[in-house]
Amino acid sequence: MAERTCIACDGTGKQVDDEGWQYQCSVCHGRGKVNDASETKVMHTDENNRLLD
Ligand SMILES: [Zn+2]
Repeated sequence: MAERTCIACDGTGKQVDDEGWQYQCSVCHGRGKVNDASETKVMHTDENNRLLD
């Protein structure tokens, strides 16, 4: 299964908010890497939740 560096945390496994609080990355769950398939699924808009013009 292909893995790549998590773009949300840049591979650190942590995210930092505007006030400097650190917390576990919600995308990779602190691993710093994500599966291509799983992140793609997150970024796709659900068919049942699509936006209509
Ligand atoms: Zn991450």
